[in-house]
Amino acid sequence: MSHTAELIAVGTELLLGNICNTDAQMISQALSQLGINVFYHTVVGDNPERAKAAVEIAKKRADIIITTGGLGPTCDDLTKQVLAESFGKQLVFHEESAQRIRSYFETYLPHRTMTENNLQQAMLPEGCTVLDNDWGTAPGCTFVSDGVRVIMLPGPPRECRAMVEHRVIPLLKSLSDGVICSRTLKLFGIGESNMESQLHEQMLAMQNPTLAPYAKEGECELRITAKASTEEEAQSMLDPVEQQLRQQFGDLIYGVDIPNLETCVSQLLREQGLTLGTAESCTGGLAAKRMTDLPGASQVFKGGVVCYTNEVKHSVLGVRQETLDQYGAVSRETAAELARGACRVLGSDVGISMTGVAGPDPDEGKPVGLVYCGIARGDQVWVKETRLGQARDRIRNSAVLTAFDLVRRLLTGLPVE
Ligand code: ATP
Ligand code: MG
Repeated sequence: MSHTAELIAVGTELLLGNICNTDAQMISQALSQLGINVFYHTVVGDNPERAKAAVEIAKKRADIIITTGGLGPTCDDLTKQVLAESFGKQLVFHEESAQRIRSYFETYLPHRTMTENNLQQAMLPEGCTVLDNDWGTAPGCTFVSDGVRVIMLPGPPRECRAMVEHRVIPLLKSLSDGVICSRTLKLFGIGESNMESQLHEQMLAMQNPTLAPYAKEGECELRITAKASTEEEAQSMLDPVEQQLRQQFGDLIYGVDIPNLETCVSQLLREQGLTLGTAESCTGGLAAKRMTDLPGASQVFKGGVVCYTNEVKHSVLGVRQETLDQYGAVSRETAAELARGACRVLGSDVGISMTGVAGPDPDEGKPVGLVYCGIARGDQVWVKETRLGQARDRIRNSAVLTAFDLVRRLLTGLPVE
């Protein structure tokens, strides 16, 4: 039987936007690994009536309800009362939990006096199974009533994560009827809407596996998800879909289950024993930043020059004054000389450059969003001209990705321009 879980996060601070519902993200990921469907996330404030209403709705559409937060000792911690009332249960004092709370204070918080309200946390719904909390004071608990499995977990993410890993997953494994596996294809050089329109019919027709497109910071993702009784079976269902997408999108796909384009670039450089250097104008060092975000970057990344002014382009990277005077800083010619300059000055095998108009105002009579990305290797140099929209952040981010993609294309033998 297929299970459906609903997550109810309790906390006014979530509704106010003070914190993000990261517990829900973490729990959903865990449930999806177990093959348990999650159809709804609910967030409700520290208000008993509204919390109760949320539980009433969840009861009708889920057979597993998992709550987070509101198990603490303060008066706004109301989750247990609400759930107990909704399922017609009393709260009863659980001596063993009280003892654990006392000893938690003695061991980890010896300088703090335990106040009586801390023992509130030992009041639990009658007949429940206590989920011991070895990472904090508030115990979790679980019971089955009206055909619904209820699980209550503490809100603090560190505690919640540990409780899910050590208490909830083992509990739910026995209920689960399969596994869900997914594979994420990463694409660069195609917009989400274009990708979606090419796949629309196909996606509608697919039920298992399913296919979903996502746009993420200038890149696109296609996630294929299959549900089966074993991991092997699910993986074998993913294979033909991946093959078909590879045929459809070809070299726009730069990797599978890889975090980002710079990781792909870094892997290629490493495999081929090459190094990279950057010359960045409009991106102000973002390419260097992203490369050095990767651990072990020093093996493949030599360094970068931020050449924001023409003076630096000329004096540090050797762009000829005539080139700057005749074509301007934002030009095919300057991008080419910058990429060559990066190789020479930084001693790298491959050099990339980014020069463009990041806005908000046009420059040199050139429009906002016009960017030239160059790549040099040995005597060869290529330049790609692109238009990257209007927003400054987006232009800079896309410029870096465009330059990284040139490296990927060059090192995998694809046409660069
Ligand atoms: P405590 O014993 O600390 O009071 P609790 O179970 O009562 O724990 P809350 O009081 O609701 O939980 O939240 C405690 C803290 O945990 C919050 O201040 C917040 O930082 C974090 N938190 C609560 N719910 C979530 C959530 N859904 N996602 C991420 N963080 C959360
Ligand atoms: Mg609390």
